[in-house]
Formats: sequence, C-alpha cells, structure tokens
Amino acid sequence: EIELRHIEKHFGPVHVIKDVNLTVKDKEFVVFLGPSGCGKTTTLRAIAGLEEIDSGDILLDGKPIQGLRAADRDIAFVFQNYALYPHFTVFENLAFPLRAVGTAKDVVDRTVRSVGKSLGILHLLNARPSALSGGDMQRVAIGRALVRRPKALLLDEPIGSLDAKLRETMRIELKRLHYENGSTSIYVTHDQVEAMSLADRIVVMNDGVLQQVGTPTEVYLYPANLFVAQFIGSPV
Ligand code: ATP
Repeated sequence: EIELRHIEKHFGPVHVIKDVNLTVKDKEFVVFLGPSGCGKTTTLRAIAGLEEIDSGDILLDGKPIQGLRAADRDIAFVFQNYALYPHFTVFENLAFPLRAVGTAKDVVDRTVRSVGKSLGILHLLNARPSALSGGDMQRVAIGRALVRRPKALLLDEPIGSLDAKLRETMRIELKRLHYENGSTSIYVTHDQVEAMSLADRIVVMNDGVLQQVGTPTEVYLYPANLFVAQFIGSPV
C-alpha cells in the first residue's frame, strides 16, 4: 500500500503539489491523469524518492519512504525517455538489475528468459538497443523494471513516444503484465484513452490539486467538476 498524506511541493515560487492525499491499495492500477505541467511527474518522482517534498508523508506499507534505503523500497520505474545501456545487449540490459544485487547466474538466465518471453522479445536478447524499434526498446525498459518483481511499479508516460497502433498494443500488454506480475502500478499520462483503458482508479489532477479519484466509469459518468468533465470528455 502506498499512502500520500498532505503532500506539498514548491519549485521556487511555483506551488506544484497542493495538499495531495491518496491511498493506493496493493495490486491496484492507479492512473494519474492531467494536462502537462499539473504536477503528475513531480508526484510520481516524490513517491519514487527522487524528489524531496516540502511537507507531508509518503508511506510504503505504513513506513515513511524517507527512512527507507533505496534498496528496501522495492519500487521500479519506467520513464518515457527510457535509457537502455547502449553498449549492453538486450539480455545484459535485462540482467543488469539482477546482477547488481548478486543474483545467481542460473536465476538470472531463467528470469530474463521468462520476462523476455512475456514481453515477446526473446528473439532480441542478443541485439543491441540501437538495432531495436521504439516499441521493442520500450518493452526492454519495462522488462528491466520487472525482472526483480517489484512490489510497486511507477510508470511515467511509458508509451507516450510510440505511434497510435503500437500504443494500443502496449496498453493491452501493460495491463496483462500488471496482473501477471501482481505489482501495484502507478501510471502517469495526459491521455484520457490510456487512463480509461488501464486504470482501476483514475486520479484526475490539475494545477497541483487532485480534482477527483474514482473508477473510470465514475469519473466519466459523474465528473466532480467542470474541469474533470471537459478533460475526460464526459457527456454533458
Ligand atoms: P508533464 O506531463 O509535462 O511532465 P506534469 O503534470 O508531469 O507535466 P510536472 O512535470 O510535475 O508536471 O511539473 C509541474 C510543474 O513544476 C511545472 O510547472 C514544471 O515546469 C515545474 N517543474 C518540474 N520540475 C521542476 C524543477 N526541477 N525545477 C523547477 N520547476 C520544475
């Protein structure tokens, strides 16, 4: 469980996160949806421990993340500008997080193959990133986040740079992976279709404020305010 309690964040004079409160349940798929600049990424980075907050608490299973070592957080991230290691093969990219913690070679091999299989990139294990299509690179980036079976997966517009057809395919894959992996997922996007199709619950954000938290149906049919209705495209 991930709990945000009264989170506040400023960048200089700009108030980016305004009293954000939210509990994400275990195995839930929560999507932060809102326009560019509304504070989604900053919120996700704060949960990841990559961004300090001014005040409030972020709890992982009841423990403040500030007190947890990075290695104990059991959180993995996928960002839009996924950086694969260019001099490594796909196999080595996927193996890296496991090797970094001293995982036995046979376990590394087995895990990389299993994740590679579920992402449909087994045939690419010996390729270098420069030889991959955008979709395959993104699959590797997601695979690299999944190999350690993190309890929580944070995804920031992970498929935003792909074309429409590929985004649709990746949406279906992401949803399947979420269920297979059993992790808690928090996903950031400005794309309503992505949010509606992926989320157990959507968090609509604007100007640093959570406007509404609800299932896709609730948010679509019963928007809390005009902003939500217009952003989601609810029937009027
Ligand atoms: P996008 O989809 O464009 O990433 P977002 O909703 O994720 O938008 P944030 O990236 O969280 O929004 O940014 C929120 C606000 O904070 C923006 O006004 C942005 O310019 C500002 N901001 C983000 N990071 C920094 C930083 N390191 N220093 C100063 N201002 C920042």
